[in-house]
This record gives sequence, C-alpha cells and structure tokens, in this order.
Amino acid sequence: MKVLKFGGTSVGSAKNINNVIDILIANSKSNSIICTVSAVGGITDKLLLAGNLSKNKDILYEDMFHTIKNSHIGIIEELIPKDNQHVIEEVSKKLDDLKNLLDGIFLINELSPKTSDKLVSFGELLSSYIIAETMKSRGLSAALKNSQELIVTNSNFTKAEVDYAVTNKNIQEYFKNAKQKITIIPGFISKSKSGEQTTLGRGGSDFTAAIVAAALQVEQLEIWTDVSGMFTTNPKLVKQAYPIEKLSYQEAMELSHFGAKVLYPPTVQPVLDLNIPIHIKNTLEPEAKGTIISKDVNGTTSPVKGISNINNIALLTLQGNGMVGIPGFSKRLFETLAQEKINVILITQASSEHSICLGIDEQDAAVAKTAIDATFENEIAIHKIDPLIVETGLSIIALVGDNMKNHQGISGKMFSALGKNNINIRAIAQGASEKNISAVILQSDVKKALNTLHEQFFETKTKQLNVFITGVGNVGEKLVEQIKQQKKYLKENLKINLRVTGLSNSRTMVFNDEGIDLNTWKDQLQAGEKASLEGFFNTVKQMNLRNSIFVDVTANSEVANLYADYLRQSIGVVACNKIACSSNFENYSLLKRLSLKYNAPFLFETNVGAGLPIIDTLNNLIASGDKVTSVQAVLSGSLNFVFNNFDDTTKFYDVVKQAAAEGYTEPDPRIDLSGVDVARKILILARESGMELNLEDIINTPFLSESGLKSNTVDDFYQTLIKDESHYQGLYASAKAKNCQLKYVAELNNGKAQVGLKEIPEGHPFYNLKGKDNIVMFYTHRYPEQPMIIKGAGAGADVTASGLFADIIRIGNN
Ligand code: ADP
Ligand code: ASP
Ligand code: MG
Repeated sequence: MKVLKFGGTSVGSAKNINNVIDILIANSKSNSIICTVSAVGGITDKLLLAGNLSKNKDILYEDMFHTIKNSHIGIIEELIPKDNQHVIEEVSKKLDDLKNLLDGIFLINELSPKTSDKLVSFGELLSSYIIAETMKSRGLSAALKNSQELIVTNSNFTKAEVDYAVTNKNIQEYFKNAKQKITIIPGFISKSKSGEQTTLGRGGSDFTAAIVAAALQVEQLEIWTDVSGMFTTNPKLVKQAYPIEKLSYQEAMELSHFGAKVLYPPTVQPVLDLNIPIHIKNTLEPEAKGTIISKDVNGTTSPVKGISNINNIALLTLQGNGMVGIPGFSKRLFETLAQEKINVILITQASSEHSICLGIDEQDAAVAKTAIDATFENEIAIHKIDPLIVETGLSIIALVGDNMKNHQGISGKMFSALGKNNINIRAIAQGASEKNISAVILQSDVKKALNTLHEQFFETKTKQLNVFITGVGNVGEKLVEQIKQQKKYLKENLKINLRVTGLSNSRTMVFNDEGIDLNTWKDQLQAGEKASLEGFFNTVKQMNLRNSIFVDVTANSEVANLYADYLRQSIGVVACNKIACSSNFENYSLLKRLSLKYNAPFLFETNVGAGLPIIDTLNNLIASGDKVTSVQAVLSGSLNFVFNNFDDTTKFYDVVKQAAAEGYTEPDPRIDLSGVDVARKILILARESGMELNLEDIINTPFLSESGLKSNTVDDFYQTLIKDESHYQGLYASAKAKNCQLKYVAELNNGKAQVGLKEIPEGHPFYNLKGKDNIVMFYTHRYPEQPMIIKGAGAGADVTASGLFADIIRIGNN
C-alpha cells in the first residue's frame, strides 16, 4: 500500500486534477492506494482573506466568496461535464454553509482561531469531495473518507497536536474494512476530542499523508507537488537550483524546518521510526526522478546538501552585565517564551554570557518584547539588564548536510562568500551535530545570499558576473557587442557566466536581473526609463546581485564621483574614465582603500594606453617584489598622429584639424595639445608605482606658442595655429636638422614626472612609432638596462572596449 499526497497546484485546475487521476490510476493497478489532497491552489489563502474582510466589516468579502465559489463550480463543470447535478447540489450546500459562516463573522466582527479553522476546512472538504466524485463518475473504484473522522487532536487551533493513539486506531480500523481501490482523504483538517474542527498548520496536508502512512505502515509515502523534488535551494529564488536525489530524514527535516516549503516540517516525524521512505514528485512532470528521503543515503558525497531560508525573522537580544554567571537566567527567558507559545528558531550565546540572542517569527516579536521585559522587570529597573532589543526585517539562511561535520572549512567558505558580497551577518548558529550552519541576515539580502552560497557550494564550476554599463556610446557599444560575441566562449572555457544586467546612455537606462537580451539591447535601451546617475546607482543597489560590476564608459566627472558609493556596496568598478584616478591623491587612495575594504575590485587598465596591458603589467611587477626606477613613454595617440603627419610640406593647423576630424583628439584639442591628457596618464602610472603625486607635481613643458596657450576658446586657439605656423615649423626644423623625430614623451625618474615634446634620435625605440601607437618602457630593478616594453595601438573604440572587457574578465577569474 502507498499513500500519495497532492498539493494545491496539483489540484489547482481541472487539467491538473486530470493529471492526478492518471497518476492514481497508474498507481492503483496492482495495489490499493490512499490519496491525500490539499485545497484547490490558493483557496486557503482566499478563505482567510474573506474571513478577515468579514471580520473588518468589509463587504468585499462577498466578492471573495464568489471567486471561491466560481472556481469550484468551474472545475466541476470541466471535470464532470454531464450528469453533474448531484455534485453541484452538494457543493452548493457546502458553499452555502461557508457563506453563512462568513456572514456570521461579519455580524459579530470577530474571527477567533477556532472559527478560522472551521473556515479554512472548507478548502479541503470541497476539493476532496469534487475529486472523489470525478473519479466515481469515471467508473473508478474510489471513495471519500473525511479525515476529520480519523485524525484526532487537541484544541490548539490553527496548529493542533495529534493524539496518535486514538488517530492510529481510527485509521487502522477504517482501512481494515475498506473495499475501494482508491481512498481520497482531505489533507490538513482534523477534529478535536470534543468534536471541534481543527487544522494541522499551514502546509499540513503533507503531515496528514504522513500520519496515515505511519498508521498503516505503508511501503512508501509520495508527496506530489509543483516542483521535481526538494531542490538544492528555493528554485523560485535561485534559477540554478536543482533537485537533490537523496536525502536523509535528518537533512530533510533540517531543510524543511529552515524554510524549504516543499515539505511541511512535522511530516518526517511519523514515518522516520518506521523507516518509510518519502518520495517527492512533480505532478506536472511525473517522469522526473524527484527526491527520495530515507535512511539510505549511500552514494551521496557532497557535504552540503541544501540551503534554505526563513523570512520574517525578528532577532531578540537580551544583554546586560547582570547576566554573567546568574543561574536560571536562560530558564526564565525560555519559560517566558514557552508560556506565550512562541517558537524559538535560533539561539546564540557568547561565552561571556553577557548577552543572548534569539531568532523568532516577526509576528511574535511584540508579544515577546512585552513578556520578556515583564519577566525581567526588576533586573531592568536596577540596570542589571537592558530592556529587550528587537530587530526586524531579518531572515535566517541555513546550510544543511549530515556530512558537513567531516569536512573542514565549510563555515569559513560560507562566511567569506557572504562577506565578499557585502552581506552583513547579524548572528550565527551552528549545532554541535554540525548538520546545520545558520546565519541571520537582512531579508533584503536573501536572494543574493542564496545565489552566492549556491554558486559557492553547488556550482563551483561557473561564476556569474552581473555587469552594469553606463555610457553606451562609441566604446560602450563596442563593449556590448564584444560581450555578446564572447558569452558562449567565456561560459565554456573560463566558466564565467557574463550577463549584462543594466545599460545606460545619457538619455535612457534599462535593467534586467536575468540579463538583458543582447540581440535586442538597442531597442530595449531606447524604450527604457529616463536615465539618471542616481537612479542607475539606486537600481543597481536595489537589485542587489552577487558579483556586480559597474562599468564607466563615460568621461564624466559626476559618474566618477559615484565610484565610492558603488564600492561601498561591494560592487566592483571598471572604468576607462580617467577622472577618478587622476583626481586629487586623497580621492584616488580613498577608492583604493574602499576597494580593499569592501572586497570590490577597482580596475582602470584603459586609463593608460587603451587596451594595452600597461597597468596590469605594472601591478604584477610590483606585486612580485620588483621596483620601478624609471618609466619612459609615448602615451598620446592624438599627439602621435599630429607629429607623425606634420612636416615642412604641411601646415600645423591643417594637421590638427585633420586629427580632430578623425576623432583622435578630444572635442577641445587643447586638452591633448597642452599635454594635460598625457600628464594624467603618467600621474596614474606614477601612483600605481607607489608614488604619492598630484597633477600639479607633473612638470609640463608646453610646446604651444604663447598665444596658443593663452587662447580662451577653441576657435581662438585654431586661429593661433595659423598665425604661429612659423613657431611650429621651427620645432620641426630643429628636429630635422639633428635627424630626429618629434615625439610627445612622458617620463618618470627618481619620483619626478614630466611631460613634453622631445627630439628623438634615430635608433631610439620611440623613433619609428607609427600612427596612434603608444609605447611604454619600464626600467626596474629586474629590468635595469633593457627595459620591459609594451607597444601597440593606444587609442580607438575597439581596443578600448577590449581593455574594459579584459578588466571584467580579470574580476571573473579572481
Ligand atoms: P504544495 O501546494 O504542493 O504543497 P508548496 O507550495 O507547499 O506545494 O511547496 C512547493 C514549493 O516550495 C515550490 O513551488 C517552491 O516554490 C517552494 N520551495 C521552497 N524551497 C524549496 C526547495 N528547497 N525545494 C523545492 N521547493 C522549494
Ligand atoms: N491547504 C492548506 C494550506 O494551504 C494545507 C496544504 O495545502 O498543505 O496551507
Ligand atoms: Mg505544501
């Protein structure tokens, strides 16, 4: 014999009930079976809602009643299209009773736990009746048995306790004589010894099935639900969660007690001693394997079996110097909670006994506070103990596994993974049995925490990166396209699951926590909400995704001003924007410190030489103990272009104009030609080499004419280039006379940095530098004579985008 239980979704529609009947037929071929059913999906909630509306004198309870009525009548008409009169009549009678009860609640303005149980019992009474009648109408050997006649409890309404002696006897006696092949039993509902309707607690249909299974010592208990088993974690919150094949009873109990709703926690108890296996199966996907809960867990090796969470937790802290060493103190505390029937979910106490911390359901917090403060009234009055501290908005997350005790470092991994993602831990509990390690965190962090831990313990192979890009102009667009193209490669070869979760240009922004579809990103962005820097930050913060990276592809100082805010949220920052790293030293070092403190990478490889690996190489040299003695570099693509094209056959004005037209200069060419841009770059290299410099410390010898330097507007500036042509020809002639090339050079020597135009003789590595190429030569203790040289295109949208991309991957590989 077997007991099968079908949950709310499984009996939530005529279509699903037909699936259930198919499953029952298949199972009853060789054996008689018992089938426990829940109320039609969502009906229990609706009954409670209707009851509360009535109680509050809100006439809308009548609408709710009609919704409940219509869904049942609709299901009957679909399941039993013909000759259904008697069924409709009986159901209508039950619905009339329900309506009378709701009217009564409305009149007396009261909904006691006792009445509430009577009210919600209609859900299971209706569903079980309809299903049994449907089966009979199809000629199946089925009968309905009301569990209120079998399961006897105390009068602890809404969560009654079972009297097993009487209950077991009732069940055994009934089934001794039952002739039908299939017995339908409503779950969840029961009666007290004095005949009042009671229930076994929300989700209690699982429990009903287990009680019947144990009383009859059947071979197997099957819980049929809307997911394919007990998952590694809540599948609604973690997309990558997957069904666990085998669990021990203890593991299943821990997971369900700590929030895995798929199994009502008390369900395991009755079947455990009898060794009856529980099989969790999916009504909507009957072929799926599901989860087996039993004593036999051979063949499972992973120490962590699942992760669960309970929301709406309040943390109570009782503390005070007067607590130390006073015996009986905890006893009084727990007695107080027991008297108020408050369930304690988690307990921690520091060894000094100076404080004790309890996790309870948020709903009980107010009662707990009043009761505990009353118990310790005297101690509080003489300041031996502080009034109870209550914090709400919290959740418990728990790692569960019988085998965790045999593995070292699990809690270390757990807390460091959470810490890296800026998830603050308020309290920790780990039993001596080490089957469960729990932590109390903010409820708003739960989704991120579960995903982080799931990745850590169940997806060791792939790491998800969530990328938010601001500034999808020229370079940004290239970056998005490169990501789109490489996504598959990264997943397969580097085990990085890279998702673009936010995009913004100056007009609009768009977000998707599942990752924006990169085939249509432009349309989505265009249709997005109005962009704002604050709005972007707030959304990224609120999405609260693990391994988040903010990518700045603007040249905007306001964006750079937000880096600190991102880092403080443990969100990594990748920037091609040079402003932050070349701003004052305090700001630069603050960002570096925040990056360390919050474990959030801050990378800006593209600040110098676009995609060339200059900063990364420098960092590697220093990290491995080398010391930079000198840097010689050509770092401006625009100045290179200008001096590679300028000679005695051209005009300086024309060459600069052409550079601007081809996009090699800033809109204001003075930023390039004055050397400011190069000065910023050498400043960044100097700082990364460990020097405390500011932009004012960089010696900048200008090559522009006096009037060029003094010009007030871009137009004025261009006019000076025409007027001062002879000044520029003079520079060229001087170099040519010495057989030299003009290059704009940045240097760092003995802690001093300078930038300026130089005459480079033949044979020098800079002499043949072409087009927009950059070159950097590092002289270090390990490279004293022959420098380490990095050379290549140092400007352009494609290479800049690939430099940003490399920074993102660097974070992923970390
Ligand atoms: P039923 O109505 O069939 O009793 P429940 O809604 O009570 O179903 O339980 C199934 C739901 O439990 C799933 O749809 C899922 O959202 C939730 N759930 C939470 N944690 C887990 C988990 N670890 N494994 C599977 N389901 C879980
Ligand atoms: N119908 C009840 C509830 O929703 C019992 C159950 O479905 O298990 O809580
Ligand atoms: Mg359930």
